[in-house]
Amino acid sequence: MDKRSLSDIQADLKSGNLTVSGLVDHYLEKIEESAELNIFVEVFAQEAKQQADALDAKIKAGKSLGTLYGAIISIKDVICYKDHKVTAASKVLDNFESKFTATALQRLLDEDAIVIGRTNCDEFAMGSSNENSVYGATKNGVDPERVAGGSSGAAAVSVQQDTCLLALGTDTGGSVRQPAAFNGVIGMKPSYGRISRYGLIAYGSSFDQIGVLGTQLDDVYSCIEIMSGPDDMDATSHTAPLDDTQSISSTIQFAVIDEVMNHEKLHESIKLSSANLLKTLTTDGHTVNNIQFPLLKYLVPAYYVLTTAEASSNLGRYDGIRYGHRSEKSNSIDSIFQESRKEGFGHEVKRRIMLGTFVLSSGYYDAYYTKAQKVRRLVTEHIQKILDENDCLIMPTTTDVAWKIGALNDDPVAVYLSDVYTVLANLVGIPAVSIPLGKDDSGNPYGIQVMSKAFSEKKLYHLANVLENTINH
Ligand code: GLN
Repeated sequence: MDKRSLSDIQADLKSGNLTVSGLVDHYLEKIEESAELNIFVEVFAQEAKQQADALDAKIKAGKSLGTLYGAIISIKDVICYKDHKVTAASKVLDNFESKFTATALQRLLDEDAIVIGRTNCDEFAMGSSNENSVYGATKNGVDPERVAGGSSGAAAVSVQQDTCLLALGTDTGGSVRQPAAFNGVIGMKPSYGRISRYGLIAYGSSFDQIGVLGTQLDDVYSCIEIMSGPDDMDATSHTAPLDDTQSISSTIQFAVIDEVMNHEKLHESIKLSSANLLKTLTTDGHTVNNIQFPLLKYLVPAYYVLTTAEASSNLGRYDGIRYGHRSEKSNSIDSIFQESRKEGFGHEVKRRIMLGTFVLSSGYYDAYYTKAQKVRRLVTEHIQKILDENDCLIMPTTTDVAWKIGALNDDPVAVYLSDVYTVLANLVGIPAVSIPLGKDDSGNPYGIQVMSKAFSEKKLYHLANVLENTINH
């Protein structure tokens, strides 16, 4: 894995040691070398080369450049890019082409970033392994027999394999952080509302956020920073400034949840290295506060009730009329809807549409949907209190390392339960970042995750820096 940072790249571009087109060629070569891993569903090779030539001409002419010149990025196949295909890894959006560009992506393009291609993912971002895709599974970058993680699995592998500098993913319940952990890279998800969702194919609208994966914290954060800010096209986008004054003192208060560290599913190596990290932090003069969080076991159920409910509504628009796939078998308006959806959606998406429709049905609405909303409120209050009393919450990103491809195919509940540590940040709407922590005996990577108050991304970035330095020294 090449750990070149954007500032190194830009220095080389300025001094003439490197050209943007040379850089694009390098990444295209890497894409070819890693083809077996099934990272990209489409590579924009010609276009990226042309844009690189144009940028090289600009550099040569001494013209002013955007802050992201030299940043070559991949985009997850749920992010709209004008005149490019976007399918959410689903047959239902077969051959669908975007008519506009997502606001977040447009902000990066305006700063001279170049998109090299779109990456595989779980269908409609539903999954934890990148196996639920019409394009087949993406393989883990460290051990190709294992899953890449999900749903932004290929985004993580794209940076891990040095096929691009940064990757845009999305995180509804951990889809940026979990694959980052499974591939030994960094993944950051901002607060809900920090980045516009306009042009992002919806899964669970009150959870979804675009996030960034990379190997360098500085680059990941600056990408988040550039995409941030209000957008007229998304009423939930927020105006809170990024340069909040929530300073961090030299001694940091870390909150650690007892139930997390004593979880029965927690892998021994992850437990041990997390405990060691906490010990080092204390030795370095920081404070680690052990706290109780009895609501932990309700996180996954509440998350899956609410997100499937939102998904069942969001996915109602795929009717075979307005977008993508239309069944050949249909001979009436009703059968167009039915057959197109039957043929177009994969197994997991159908399961979630049914689950979501069930929890929203009149007889069960209060028992499931209303109840889950109450749990969300309680969890939010509880976590906010913890973050009032501490600088951040720290916990492993996952209970385990990446599993073998196919191993959990018959056990969707086990896959849902594996999201236990990541869904918290999305239920509450707070920012979170996963950074590499270590590897188990077989060399499979895992990560540690920090979360801070809503809209305190800058502080989170500083905290992650402290952790990274602690882990690496
Ligand atoms: N694994 C979770 C799910 O399947 C999270 C997915 C995501 O964040 N997009 O819903």
